[in-house]
Amino acid sequence: MAADRACVIAWLQRAGAALHEQREYLTSLDAAIGDADHGTNMDRGFKAVLEKLPTVAEADIGTILKTVGTTLVSTVGGASGPLYGTAFLRAGMALAGKQDLEPADLVTGLAAAVEGIMARGKAQRGEKTMVDALGPALDALQAKVAAGASQDEALQAAVAAAEAGMTTTIPMLATKGRASYLGERSVGHQDPGATSAALLLRTMLNG
Ligand code: ADP
Ligand code: MG
Repeated sequence: MAADRACVIAWLQRAGAALHEQREYLTSLDAAIGDADHGTNMDRGFKAVLEKLPTVAEADIGTILKTVGTTLVSTVGGASGPLYGTAFLRAGMALAGKQDLEPADLVTGLAAAVEGIMARGKAQRGEKTMVDALGPALDALQAKVAAGASQDEALQAAVAAAEAGMTTTIPMLATKGRASYLGERSVGHQDPGATSAALLLRTMLNG
């Protein structure tokens, strides 16, 4: 079954609610290896996104995602604003004009988002960032869709891979972003951005 504009809007609303609910947890992860603002940053950004949604209620999915991107860039300070902003902008450009998303479109959108983050942040996998959740999620989504899985099954696999990827950041040494300033002291802590990335993907699942 294809995902229509209403599904995308419902996802963004669930994402905003989940980020609001988890803001203190995300901030506590950032307190350990950063500057204790990741939850606040994401909550502020998605609150602004939810306020903007009525203005794009009739727009195509590409336009909705691009609007999310520009809103995040302009409202979220710190590294995560430009990074998530770029992800949504790139996904929106890749899905320009779409009224419905087939499973293959989900792969196209997530691939564009991950490429955008990696280009903007100059990050590879294994550097203890959101890329460590999103990269494995993309691989899993791509493999399931190529094998003809349903949208639901493909998304379940992507979420499982993102959450596994999120926990692989715990023993990693941070070499990008603020956590890299800590050097060896970054080891043993879960990356906040990988955690919010896994949360964003989990909220794609219905209900
Ligand atoms: P800041 O680090 O500026 O305070 P946030 O706390 O909102 O911004 O976001 C921190 C998260 O951003 C990190 O946990 C990490 O996942 C991600 N991040 C930081 N720098 C990069 C980068 N260069 N590439 C990819 N992700 C990054
Ligand atoms: Mg921070």
